[in-house]
Amino acid sequence: MKTKSSSISEVIRTRIEKNGARFLSTDNISDFIQDGELDLLVDEVAKKMQDVLNTLVINTKDDHNTQDTAQRIAKMYIKETFSGRYLPPPTITSFPNAKTYDQIYVTGPITIRSVCAHHFQNITGVAYIGVFPGTDVIGLSKFNRIADWYASRPTIQEELTVQIADAVQQLTKAEGVGVLIKANHACMTARGVKEHASDFTTSVLRGSMRNNPVLKDEFFRIMTGMKGWNN
Ligand SMILES: [Zn+2]
Repeated sequence: MKTKSSSISEVIRTRIEKNGARFLSTDNISDFIQDGELDLLVDEVAKKMQDVLNTLVINTKDDHNTQDTAQRIAKMYIKETFSGRYLPPPTITSFPNAKTYDQIYVTGPITIRSVCAHHFQNITGVAYIGVFPGTDVIGLSKFNRIADWYASRPTIQEELTVQIADAVQQLTKAEGVGVLIKANHACMTARGVKEHASDFTTSVLRGSMRNNPVLKDEFFRIMTGMKGWNN
């Protein structure tokens, strides 16, 4: 008797469930994906996406605009907009804070391109990351890589801010961390209330950045003087 062969998404999902791991939209599942399986996942999503287009009663066969749309969307989801779920974390080496720099530093604006988990609409904005150093430091560009890895998932801005703050704290063993994201949500601008003028700002403060009002003020003062703040 022939058993029904599982789709690649079922295979991956079974591995995750066997390990008791989480696979919410903001979780990374790269540990459960083997070489070559991402391309199979693209193919599976493309097939299902084509079903969606068919159900939307779009004649993709005779319409050159939408002929390859299912394939394009599938590739975009897996390899670009949601790649932070499927690809392993960026390699980041922490170094000892040799010169024991003991002042706050702030990096930004870091471009944020994400997608809201509620409507799969774009979230576009900037992040600023402030660190009051502890024992370790990381390269400046690594902050951008961390932010992008977490942003490349269907998420909500509050959770994205928390995830970036946690990662920075873990990698730098910082005494204080501040992360602020200022973004536009296409689910506000392109649908629903169609409000174009509003920004949404979230901030997470940790350690001394939260407990010491002087440091907290300094973080906000430096940040508001930085490029991109008034955009
Ligand atoms: Zn939304």
